[in-house]
Amino acid sequence: MPEVLAIKEEEKQLIQREYRKLLKAIKSDMDDKDQKMIRMAYELAVEAHSKQRRKSGEPYIMHPIAVATICAEEIGLGPTAIVCALLHDVVEDTEVSLADISKQFGTRVARIVDGLTKLDSAYNAESPQAENFKKVLSTLVDDVRVVLIKMADRLHNMRTLGAMPRHKQLKIAAETSYIYAPLAHRLGLYTFKTEFLDLCMKITDPENYRDIAKKLAETKRSREEYIQEFINPLKEQLAELGVDYYVIGRPKSIYSIWNKIKFKGVPFEEIYDLFAVRIILNVPPEKEKLFCWQVYSIVTDVHTPIPERLKDWITTPKSNGYESLHTTVVGPKGRFVEVQIRTDRMNEIAERGFAAHWKYKGINNQPDVYERWLDSVREILEDPHSDAVEFLGDFRANNLFNEEVYAYTPKGDMKILPKGATALDFAFNIHTDIGYYCASIKVNNRLVPMGYKLQNGDQVQIKTNKNQKPTEDWLKMVVTGRARSKIRSAMKDERRKKGEFGKEALERKFKHVKVDFEDAIDKVVKYFGYTSRIDFYYDLTKEETSINEIFKHFRPEGGKLVEIPEEVEILEPVPTEVKRPRKGKAKPRLLINGEPAEQFEFSFAACCNPVQGDPIFAFLTSNAGLKIHRANCPNATNMMVNYGYRLMKAEWILTTDSTFVADLQIIGIDDGPGVIERLTHQISTLLGLNIRSFSIAGDEGYFEGKVSLLVANTDQLTIAIRALQNLENVSSVSRIE
Ligand code: MN
Repeated sequence: MPEVLAIKEEEKQLIQREYRKLLKAIKSDMDDKDQKMIRMAYELAVEAHSKQRRKSGEPYIMHPIAVATICAEEIGLGPTAIVCALLHDVVEDTEVSLADISKQFGTRVARIVDGLTKLDSAYNAESPQAENFKKVLSTLVDDVRVVLIKMADRLHNMRTLGAMPRHKQLKIAAETSYIYAPLAHRLGLYTFKTEFLDLCMKITDPENYRDIAKKLAETKRSREEYIQEFINPLKEQLAELGVDYYVIGRPKSIYSIWNKIKFKGVPFEEIYDLFAVRIILNVPPEKEKLFCWQVYSIVTDVHTPIPERLKDWITTPKSNGYESLHTTVVGPKGRFVEVQIRTDRMNEIAERGFAAHWKYKGINNQPDVYERWLDSVREILEDPHSDAVEFLGDFRANNLFNEEVYAYTPKGDMKILPKGATALDFAFNIHTDIGYYCASIKVNNRLVPMGYKLQNGDQVQIKTNKNQKPTEDWLKMVVTGRARSKIRSAMKDERRKKGEFGKEALERKFKHVKVDFEDAIDKVVKYFGYTSRIDFYYDLTKEETSINEIFKHFRPEGGKLVEIPEEVEILEPVPTEVKRPRKGKAKPRLLINGEPAEQFEFSFAACCNPVQGDPIFAFLTSNAGLKIHRANCPNATNMMVNYGYRLMKAEWILTTDSTFVADLQIIGIDDGPGVIERLTHQISTLLGLNIRSFSIAGDEGYFEGKVSLLVANTDQLTIAIRALQNLENVSSVSRIE
């Protein structure tokens, strides 16, 4: 944060205006004391941040005010959270201490601010992201508001990322899509999740983002007209119901439209479910279901429904608490339209999940979904064996399941599991011990393998046996985080027991050379690249690592182990003749962190094949020098999140004398022999490009080809794609990512 000039008069007015907007946005009731607290927090924050500015140049205080406004307006949080949001960066960035805050605002506010500060400092460290994530979740369990405010903080930072340097934008976007978007999803903050993913795409894939945004804007009018046309014939009957309602037709997010284009290969113009028509009713809780079904009846009287698309999440809410009645009907002009019928309350829960959940607790038997989830988070956090990296993996894996499957115990209790869950998952879901000792499973009275995938309505019966215990293979037969972490911790117990022998041998040796065990052990474990002592002891027992090996790298000195310095290896720059990353006339030129790349050993990653002109970054590998990846490489997120400190900024020095490999997928209609000739003719003769490889497969009048081209830059690639697209019978050409 650059330290800057004092705040100007017009800026003061702007700050006050934003503050008044914040006050207006607070929806919950406030007494005098609440109002005074907010005022105090505001004044303290203004004073504390008075010498700071954001990267964009605006006074820093604009940020905490904006975060507080998001908390009030978009999450619906109350006065305490607003106070905390205003103070969220004060302890970290200014002279004000936590004790000051505790004195002025009480211990509750201080605890939340402390949680927020800790989260922030976690991100500055070069610790693996998984560890940080564990911290995020611990604060979540402590006071949910910490994480909700953090979400608002992240959202505002993402919205105002433009002023940051490109490589920072990429890193923040990666972290957001890796951690914050799934967490927002899990907390049911769907509007946040959607905006996070859209903003990430805006950074990693700006061209496609802008393209879709533009098309959405252009088609807005006709969309609105269509919704009117759809709803007009229903109006009379809806009025007869005598309840307040409103209709919206918000389009899908840019990110999800792009996914559809990418994975289903449909052009924007042909996506007919760009939006759903949502009818939202305002009715008392006890009449919700009745009225929703009446509206369903009205809609389907006018527009023909497609029966298999009816989904009733009012009678059986999704496990994340989502309630709504969905159907797809044939609307005007024969277009399929998804209709969502729900009440205000359901809508709020659908958009704000967790945050709205508290407000409606206990109404209409809403299951305590979030409490149940928090319990499971707590359970995993308290598990001393849980490894942060595995933990994050599990969390993400389970989030990817949007659908669920319902199965029953023999007594008829319903269990909701993610789609794809197995019979063994079911066992662990009932109770840890039932999982551990699971010996055989019957589904609908038939014996099934443990890895049997559950179907809706299955009745599952489990036989246990005290002599049974989990094995490594079990990990392949479960998908839920709970089952995985339980099996893993059982495996670790096993390893720990076996590792005792190695540990004792090591203790004897250290004692013999008079080295303090506790002081030395972690050094050694880390040196040999282990993440836990248990694994190290285990390998010692199995003699995969030997005690002698330790003393090749360490010597005892004054009761401690001292690392023996290794001979420093000086890396000679690799001559380009020997190791050329690709065949071209010259090695492509790059800037790494602003400096000419010639001094580094670098090559282009095979996972994404960057072409001159692509947005790129450099990643320092442990044995192959720098690898250059595309910013939207499928592995980018993982690298940025887990090894952010190895990332370097990379830029092209544009030249025309290098060539790059670009892989294209071409899909089209196969109308007999000659397809290959026409494609290769277009590429080599007309465009003058070299083809490195070409493969084609066809089936029932349809072909799919993969061609590797040598191009100079992205412009040339774009021209090639366009030229191929223009060929008759070619329906789509896309670059393989
Ligand atoms: Mn902040």
